[in-house]
Amino acid sequence: MQKGNISVQTENIFPIIKKFLYSDQEIFLRELVSNAVDATSKLKTLARKGEVKGELGETTIDILIDAEAKTLTIRDRGIGMTEEEVKKYLNQVALSSAQDFVDKYKDEASIIGHFGLGFYSAFMVADKVEVVTRSFKEGSEPVRWICEGDPSYEIGTAERDFHGTDVILHISEDSVQYLENSEIEGLLNKYARFLPVPIRFGTKTE
Ligand code: ADP
Ligand code: MG
Repeated sequence: MQKGNISVQTENIFPIIKKFLYSDQEIFLRELVSNAVDATSKLKTLARKGEVKGELGETTIDILIDAEAKTLTIRDRGIGMTEEEVKKYLNQVALSSAQDFVDKYKDEASIIGHFGLGFYSAFMVADKVEVVTRSFKEGSEPVRWICEGDPSYEIGTAERDFHGTDVILHISEDSVQYLENSEIEGLLNKYARFLPVPIRFGTKTE
Protein backbone atom coordinates (compact mmCIF):
# COMPACT_ATOMS: atom_id res chain seq x y z
CA MET A 1 0.00 0.00 0.00
CA GLN A 2 1.09 3.55 -0.76
CA LYS A 3 0.17 6.41 1.51
CA GLY A 4 -0.43 10.05 0.77
CA ASN A 5 -2.48 13.07 1.64
CA ILE A 6 -5.51 14.43 -0.15
CA SER A 7 -4.80 17.99 -1.24
CA VAL A 8 -7.20 20.32 0.44
CA GLN A 9 -6.55 24.00 0.71
CA THR A 10 -8.18 24.30 4.05
CA GLU A 11 -7.16 22.57 7.28
CA ASN A 12 -9.57 19.72 7.12
CA ILE A 13 -12.65 19.73 5.03
CA PHE A 14 -14.26 16.65 6.47
CA PRO A 15 -15.53 18.03 9.78
CA ILE A 16 -16.89 20.97 7.83
CA ILE A 17 -18.76 18.76 5.42
CA LYS A 18 -20.19 16.78 8.32
CA LYS A 19 -21.14 19.67 10.53
CA PHE A 20 -22.56 22.26 8.19
CA LEU A 21 -24.25 20.09 5.69
CA TYR A 22 -25.66 17.64 8.13
CA SER A 23 -29.25 18.52 7.35
CA ASP A 24 -28.78 17.50 3.76
CA GLN A 25 -26.99 14.29 4.61
CA GLU A 26 -29.18 12.16 2.42
CA ILE A 27 -27.99 13.81 -0.80
CA PHE A 28 -24.87 11.62 -0.64
CA LEU A 29 -26.81 8.92 -2.44
CA ARG A 30 -27.90 11.22 -5.23
CA GLU A 31 -24.30 12.36 -5.68
CA LEU A 32 -22.84 8.87 -5.79
CA VAL A 33 -25.55 7.50 -8.06
CA SER A 34 -25.06 10.44 -10.39
CA ASN A 35 -21.32 9.71 -10.55
CA ALA A 36 -22.14 6.08 -11.34
CA VAL A 37 -24.54 7.18 -14.07
CA ASP A 38 -21.94 9.59 -15.51
CA ALA A 39 -19.32 6.83 -15.57
CA THR A 40 -21.73 4.46 -17.32
CA SER A 41 -22.89 7.04 -19.86
CA LYS A 42 -19.27 7.92 -20.68
CA LEU A 43 -18.52 4.26 -21.36
CA LYS A 44 -21.57 3.92 -23.60
CA THR A 45 -20.50 6.97 -25.59
CA LEU A 46 -16.99 5.58 -26.02
CA ALA A 47 -18.44 2.23 -27.08
CA ARG A 48 -20.55 3.92 -29.74
CA LYS A 49 -17.39 5.51 -31.09
CA GLY A 50 -15.75 2.08 -31.20
CA GLU A 51 -13.26 2.94 -28.46
CA VAL A 52 -14.15 0.09 -26.12
CA LYS A 53 -12.62 -3.32 -26.75
CA GLY A 54 -14.88 -6.34 -26.37
CA GLU A 55 -18.47 -6.48 -25.21
CA LEU A 56 -19.87 -3.70 -23.09
CA GLY A 57 -21.85 -6.22 -21.07
CA GLU A 58 -24.46 -5.32 -18.48
CA THR A 59 -24.41 -1.69 -17.35
CA THR A 60 -26.90 -1.79 -14.48
CA ILE A 61 -25.92 0.12 -11.35
CA ASP A 62 -26.26 -1.88 -8.14
CA ILE A 63 -26.97 -0.51 -4.70
CA LEU A 64 -26.05 -3.09 -2.10
CA ILE A 65 -26.55 -3.13 1.65
CA ASP A 66 -24.47 -5.41 3.83
CA ALA A 67 -26.02 -4.98 7.27
CA GLU A 68 -23.44 -7.17 8.96
CA ALA A 69 -20.42 -5.39 7.54
CA LYS A 70 -22.32 -2.07 7.91
CA THR A 71 -21.59 -1.09 4.36
CA LEU A 72 -23.57 0.47 1.57
CA THR A 73 -22.06 -0.06 -1.87
CA ILE A 74 -22.76 1.83 -5.08
CA ARG A 75 -21.49 -0.35 -7.92
CA ASP A 76 -21.28 0.68 -11.54
CA ARG A 77 -19.93 -0.97 -14.65
CA GLY A 78 -18.81 2.27 -16.19
CA ILE A 79 -15.44 3.60 -17.33
CA GLY A 80 -13.73 3.08 -13.98
CA MET A 81 -10.48 4.81 -13.09
CA THR A 82 -6.80 4.06 -13.48
CA GLU A 83 -4.52 4.63 -10.49
CA GLU A 84 -3.50 7.95 -11.99
CA GLU A 85 -7.12 8.99 -12.39
CA VAL A 86 -7.96 8.00 -8.82
CA LYS A 87 -5.13 10.20 -7.60
CA LYS A 88 -6.19 13.02 -9.87
CA TYR A 89 -9.94 12.92 -9.25
CA LEU A 90 -10.37 11.62 -5.72
CA ASN A 91 -7.42 13.17 -3.94
CA GLN A 92 -7.97 16.74 -4.88
CA VAL A 93 -10.71 18.70 -3.29
CA ALA A 94 -10.65 21.80 -5.39
CA LEU A 95 -11.87 24.46 -3.04
CA SER A 96 -9.99 27.64 -2.32
CA SER A 97 -11.67 27.99 1.01
CA ALA A 98 -14.11 25.43 2.29
CA GLN A 99 -15.09 27.63 5.19
CA ASP A 100 -16.08 30.54 2.92
CA PHE A 101 -18.01 28.17 0.77
CA VAL A 102 -19.96 26.77 3.65
CA ASP A 103 -20.71 30.17 5.16
CA LYS A 104 -22.03 31.39 1.87
CA TYR A 105 -24.04 28.42 0.81
CA LYS A 106 -25.07 26.50 3.87
CA ASP A 107 -28.73 27.21 3.21
CA GLU A 108 -28.74 25.93 -0.30
CA ALA A 109 -29.70 22.33 -0.62
CA SER A 110 -28.16 21.50 -3.95
CA ILE A 111 -24.89 23.33 -3.63
CA ILE A 112 -22.56 20.41 -3.05
CA GLY A 113 -22.93 19.01 -6.53
CA HIS A 114 -22.27 22.40 -8.04
CA PHE A 115 -18.86 22.58 -6.48
CA GLY A 116 -17.56 19.19 -7.47
CA LEU A 117 -17.76 18.14 -3.85
CA GLY A 118 -20.12 15.42 -4.88
CA PHE A 119 -17.95 12.45 -4.09
CA TYR A 120 -16.95 13.86 -0.71
CA SER A 121 -20.54 14.00 0.42
CA ALA A 122 -19.97 10.29 1.15
CA PHE A 123 -18.22 11.38 4.33
CA MET A 124 -21.45 12.82 5.69
CA VAL A 125 -22.63 9.28 6.36
CA ALA A 126 -19.47 7.15 6.32
CA ASP A 127 -16.41 7.24 8.50
CA LYS A 128 -14.49 5.24 5.96
CA VAL A 129 -14.89 5.23 2.19
CA GLU A 130 -13.35 2.55 0.05
CA VAL A 131 -13.22 2.70 -3.72
CA VAL A 132 -12.42 -0.35 -5.80
CA THR A 133 -12.15 0.54 -9.44
CA ARG A 134 -10.88 -0.75 -12.72
CA SER A 135 -10.59 1.31 -15.87
CA PHE A 136 -12.10 0.08 -19.12
CA LYS A 137 -8.74 0.85 -20.76
CA GLU A 138 -6.92 -2.26 -21.88
CA GLY A 139 -4.40 -3.65 -19.45
CA SER A 140 -5.66 -1.57 -16.51
CA GLU A 141 -5.07 -3.02 -13.07
CA PRO A 142 -7.78 -2.70 -10.43
CA VAL A 143 -7.06 -0.13 -7.72
CA ARG A 144 -8.26 0.20 -4.13
CA TRP A 145 -8.43 3.62 -2.45
CA ILE A 146 -9.30 3.98 1.20
CA CYS A 147 -9.92 7.17 3.13
CA GLU A 148 -11.06 7.38 6.71
CA GLY A 149 -12.50 10.86 6.71
CA ASP A 150 -9.32 12.84 7.17
CA PRO A 151 -6.89 14.09 4.54
CA SER A 152 -4.80 10.92 4.49
CA TYR A 153 -5.62 8.10 2.12
CA GLU A 154 -4.21 4.76 1.09
CA ILE A 155 -4.03 3.38 -2.37
CA GLY A 156 -3.10 -0.13 -3.42
CA THR A 157 -3.94 -3.12 -5.54
CA ALA A 158 -7.36 -4.77 -5.65
CA GLU A 159 -9.24 -7.54 -7.34
CA ARG A 160 -12.01 -6.87 -9.79
CA ASP A 161 -12.78 -8.74 -12.95
CA PHE A 162 -14.86 -6.14 -14.75
CA HIS A 163 -14.48 -2.45 -15.45
CA GLY A 164 -16.26 0.11 -13.32
CA THR A 165 -16.29 1.27 -9.74
CA ASP A 166 -17.51 0.15 -6.33
CA VAL A 167 -17.87 2.94 -3.81
CA ILE A 168 -18.09 1.17 -0.47
CA LEU A 169 -19.38 3.32 2.38
CA HIS A 170 -18.60 2.12 5.88
CA ILE A 171 -21.61 3.73 7.45
CA SER A 172 -20.94 5.66 10.67
CA GLU A 173 -22.70 4.97 13.96
CA ASP A 174 -24.91 8.04 13.65
CA SER A 175 -26.07 7.19 10.14
CA VAL A 176 -27.16 3.58 10.55
CA GLN A 177 -30.54 4.33 9.00
CA TYR A 178 -28.78 4.08 5.63
CA LEU A 179 -28.36 0.37 6.23
CA GLU A 180 -32.14 -0.07 6.13
CA ASN A 181 -33.76 -1.25 2.92
CA SER A 182 -36.77 1.03 3.34
CA GLU A 183 -34.63 4.12 3.82
CA ILE A 184 -32.54 3.46 0.70
CA GLU A 185 -35.63 2.56 -1.31
CA GLY A 186 -37.19 5.86 -0.30
CA LEU A 187 -34.08 7.82 -1.31
CA LEU A 188 -33.82 6.02 -4.64
CA ASN A 189 -37.44 6.88 -5.34
CA LYS A 190 -36.72 10.46 -4.49
CA TYR A 191 -33.36 10.96 -6.21
CA ALA A 192 -32.81 8.16 -8.67
CA ARG A 193 -35.87 8.01 -10.88
CA PHE A 194 -35.87 8.57 -14.62
CA LEU A 195 -32.15 8.01 -14.99
CA PRO A 196 -30.63 6.86 -18.28
CA VAL A 197 -29.12 3.77 -16.60
CA PRO A 198 -31.13 1.16 -14.69
CA ILE A 199 -30.57 1.06 -10.92
CA ARG A 200 -30.98 -2.24 -9.10
CA PHE A 201 -31.34 -2.38 -5.35
CA GLY A 202 -30.69 -5.56 -3.42
CA THR A 203 -28.90 -7.13 -0.52
CA LYS A 204 -25.23 -7.88 -0.86
CA THR A 205 -24.74 -11.61 -0.88
CA GLU A 206 -21.08 -12.22 -1.64
P1 ADP B 1 -18.16 15.81 -10.41
O1 ADP B 1 -19.07 14.63 -10.58
O2 ADP B 1 -18.92 17.10 -10.32
O3 ADP B 1 -17.04 15.86 -11.41
P2 ADP B 1 -17.45 14.47 -7.97
O4 ADP B 1 -16.83 14.94 -6.70
O5 ADP B 1 -18.80 13.90 -7.85
O6 ADP B 1 -17.45 15.71 -8.96
O7 ADP B 1 -16.50 13.43 -8.65
C1 ADP B 1 -15.15 13.77 -8.93
C2 ADP B 1 -14.58 12.97 -10.08
O8 ADP B 1 -14.27 11.64 -9.64
C3 ADP B 1 -15.51 12.78 -11.26
O9 ADP B 1 -15.48 13.87 -12.14
C4 ADP B 1 -14.94 11.51 -11.90
O10 ADP B 1 -13.84 11.81 -12.71
C5 ADP B 1 -14.45 10.73 -10.69
N1 ADP B 1 -15.44 9.73 -10.28
C6 ADP B 1 -16.26 9.78 -9.21
N2 ADP B 1 -17.05 8.69 -9.14
C7 ADP B 1 -16.74 7.92 -10.21
C8 ADP B 1 -17.21 6.65 -10.71
N3 ADP B 1 -18.19 5.97 -10.10
N4 ADP B 1 -16.62 6.17 -11.84
C9 ADP B 1 -15.63 6.84 -12.47
N5 ADP B 1 -15.17 8.04 -12.05
C10 ADP B 1 -15.70 8.58 -10.94
MG1 MG C 1 -20.46 14.04 -9.19
